Parts: sequence; structure tokens; C-alpha cells
Amino acid sequence: MSVSSPSRTHRAKGASDMLRQPRIAVIGAGFSGMGLGIRLKGAGLTDFTIFEKASTVGGTWRDNTYPGLSCDIPSRYYSYSFAPNPYWSKSFSPGPEIQRYIEKVAKKADIKKWIKFGTTVTSVKWDGRHWQLAAGDRDLGEFDFVVSAVGFLHHPTFPDIDGLDSFAGTLVHTAQWDSSTQWAGKRVGVIGTGSSGTQVVGSCRRRRCVAGALREDTAVDDPDGQDPVQPARKAGRAIRPRAVEAHLRLLGEGAGRVRRALHRAWRGPGGLQAGAARLPRRSRGRPESCVPS
Ligand SMILES: Cc1cc2nc3c(=O)[nH]c(=O)nc-3n(C[C@H](O)[C@H](O)[C@H](O)COP(=O)(O)OP(=O)(O)OC[C@H]3O[C@@H](n4cnc5c(N)ncnc54)[C@H](O)[C@@H]3O)c2cc1C
Repeated sequence: MSVSSPSRTHRAKGASDMLRQPRIAVIGAGFSGMGLGIRLKGAGLTDFTIFEKASTVGGTWRDNTYPGLSCDIPSRYYSYSFAPNPYWSKSFSPGPEIQRYIEKVAKKADIKKWIKFGTTVTSVKWDGRHWQLAAGDRDLGEFDFVVSAVGFLHHPTFPDIDGLDSFAGTLVHTAQWDSSTQWAGKRVGVIGTGSSGTQVVGSCRRRRCVAGALREDTAVDDPDGQDPVQPARKAGRAIRPRAVEAHLRLLGEGAGRVRRALHRAWRGPGGLQAGAARLPRRSRGRPESCVPS
């Protein structure tokens, strides 16, 4: 008969305690939190939980659905290094395509098992030994490490502009887009001239509506209530619609010229395509990707 002495049990428990994996909490399943989870899993660390307040992964790319949404650095760089995607449809791919990419990577990496969706972490407390996490009055457990991947752009803010509350037209925020809004033929004032503002203006042009972009520090106080762009123009601080249009046109023309030059280099007489066709078959395989097409 074997009887384990209390001291042996104690030693064994102490050893297993030391050998156990670190318990890790990641807050947020956007690009960052999900990428971290996949890397932890790849490193063999499986005792982790990703808490996500929404019902799926993607963060920024899940929440933003405004027309014209795309990344503003090339997609081939705006991707996970461990999940290159040779099938991007554009150099600066549209938002829904980026969200589909994130979902595909999540599926392929089988990471959703580690994510607790619909869980908003509301408190993180250090008790001297561990981090205690909670969602409201629900205890989420204790962890050795907590990684915040909550992003910082998912709380839409409206500028503090007099009269905004009583504006009679449609008022939308790019981060809370209402897809039922009718734009065709309307006059649109866009507050903010960052990436999102510029993309919305470009998209409005395609939808046959007139758009002007205002700097977010420009007051919208048109005296006759007709032209929200006019006062900003007078203040001389706004990007005028025509300037925005010209900028977009130049961008479009520049991209077109580069595309045509590449096309000539590839397809033209003595071009690269003819050279590639002469290569042995083995070296002409499709690029590898860990994202299923
Ligand atoms: C319209 C737009 C376009 C952009 N384009 C580019 C670009 O082209 N190139 C670029 O480099 N960057 C771009 N960015 C910045 C972009 O936000 C980052 O590149 C990146 O997507 C941020 O990922 P993230 O995981 O850190 O944060 P997020 O994508 O914000 O994800 C954070 C996640 O945490 C969750 N969360 C937050 N709080 C809690 C909580 N308390 N409990 C549980 N879950 C929580 C959120 O629901 C969300 O899913 C863009 C941003 C926007 C808004």
C-alpha cells in the first residue's frame, strides 16, 4: 500500500503550482487583442481568456461601416505578419473586406474558443497576488497578467457645436453609421478632415450628393442657414470642397498613371509577363497565404 506523506503532497503541489502556465486576461478582440491571442496560442500558452464586449472580433473594422471606409496604409502592410493575404482587392482595401479578413484569420486560427463575447470588463483590481477582473457584479476570475487591447477610437464623440442638438437634418457619426440614410442629391457637411472625413466626401461624390469638409474646430454658424461650408470658407480655415475635390482627383489621376505604367511594364512588348512565362513551372506557384481565399 502506498501512502503519500503530507510533505510529499505539499512538495508536489508546490512544484505543480510553479510549473502551471501563467493565467492571462486580454481585454478586447480587435486587431490587437486577437493577434495577441493567436501568438500566445502559437507559443503554447493556452491559459488565457480574451474578453470582448461585442459579439464578434474586429473592433474598429466591425464597428465602422460608413461609405468609403478603407484603410489608409496599404493592405499588404495593414495585415498580420503571420497571415499575409495575397488576395487583397485593392492597395487600400475597403473596410468590409478587412473585417472579412479578420474573421477568416480568427476562424483559421480557431481563436474564438478563447474569446468571451458580450463581456464588458468594468473593473481590474490587484489584490497583492493576482489581478481580479469583473464585468459589473460578475466575477471574471483572477489572472497573473492583464493586457489591455481596448483601442481608443471606439467611443464616438460629437464636437461641441452650438445648435448641433437642434439641427433638423440627418446627423450621423462615421463610427455609428446608419445605412438607411438617403444621400443622393443632398448637401452634406462633413465635420473633420481626417481619413474618415475625406473618405466620406469621396464616397458622397460617387453618390451624386454635394459634400464639403470642415475642420472640426470650425464653427458651423451660417447666418442664413443655407450653406454650412460658407462660414468656414470665410474663416479661411477650412478645406474647401473644391480643394478636396481637386485633391481627390489628383490622387485618382496619380494612381491611374502608376497603374498604367505597371500594366505596360507587365503586359507590354518584352514585358515582365512574357519573361515570367518562360520561367520553369516550379518557380511560378501562387504566393502562400494562411488566409483561405
Ligand atoms: C475608420 C478608421 C480607420 C482606420 N484606418 C487605419 C489604417 O488605415 N491604418 C492604421 O494603422 N490604423 C487605422 N485605424 C486605427 C485602428 O483603430 C487601428 O489600426 C486598429 O484597428 C486598432 O485595433 P485595436 O485592437 O487596438 O483596437 P480596436 O479595433 O478599437 O478594438 C478594441 C476592442 O476592444 C473592445 N473593448 C473595448 N473596451 C472593452 C471592455 N471594457 N471590455 C471588453 N471589450 C472591450 C472593443 O469592443 C473592440 O472590439 C483606423 C481607425 C478607424 C476608426
